Amino acid sequence: MTTIACKFQEVRTRIDAACRAVGRDPCEVGLLAVSKTFPADCVAQVARLGQQAFGENYLQEGVDKIAQLRAAGWTSLVWHCIGPVQANKTRLVAEHFDWLQTLDREKIARRLADQRPAQLAPLQVCIQVNVDGGANKAGVAPDEALALARVVAQLPRLCLRGVMSIPEPAPDFDTQRALHLRARKVFDEIRAAAVPGCERFDTLSLGMTGDLEAAIAAGSTLVRVGSGLFGTRPQRA
Ligand SMILES: *Cc1c(COP(=O)(O)O)cnc(C)c1O
Repeated sequence: MTTIACKFQEVRTRIDAACRAVGRDPCEVGLLAVSKTFPADCVAQVARLGQQAFGENYLQEGVDKIAQLRAAGWTSLVWHCIGPVQANKTRLVAEHFDWLQTLDREKIARRLADQRPAQLAPLQVCIQVNVDGGANKAGVAPDEALALARVVAQLPRLCLRGVMSIPEPAPDFDTQRALHLRARKVFDEIRAAAVPGCERFDTLSLGMTGDLEAAIAAGSTLVRVGSGLFGTRPQRA
């Protein structure tokens, strides 16, 4: 087996074990392969193992990789933008990605709705929630998420799918789970509000290589794994 195939197995095994530990069905938890900084041929290696969903943080890098993989015949991969998006870069997301997980402002949502090409499926979006209150951090405050959800759900060409969060790294399982549970609470609140236009609200994107077990314990339906699959990332200049 290649190194990537071994790592892919390891990650699947971790997800399965984490689900079993809390009595969840492993089918409830999807895997997003975070391929930022890794070249297109690494993506193709993981795609050959059956992985469909890939996450990119840096827009231009992601757009280039999407084009390379499409040109190589990988036309059914699903691409998630999981990085910050400036207002002047929304067109790259609207025209090239299938999902945006880091929506945290009405202005960005409106631009995406205007720019999403009519021939593409609606852009699937998650609202990013800032669960640990870092003032410089992306994400809406938990008590502002429902209001944003109501706006986003009404916009054409966007489909609001859930909530995502990137808490600061925490040293132990209980602290990690407690932070993830704050995002879970926001997810449950929006779902309970039965926001009109939000009928496919099913995605709680929580957990990375270091904390996926705690995220699954908190109810994650999508873990975003980069280094656990592809190896240590080169430092970005
Ligand atoms: C880089 C990144 C990940 C993956 O992180 P790893 O620790 O390498 O698994 C997940 N989510 C987001 C938003 C990221 O930026």
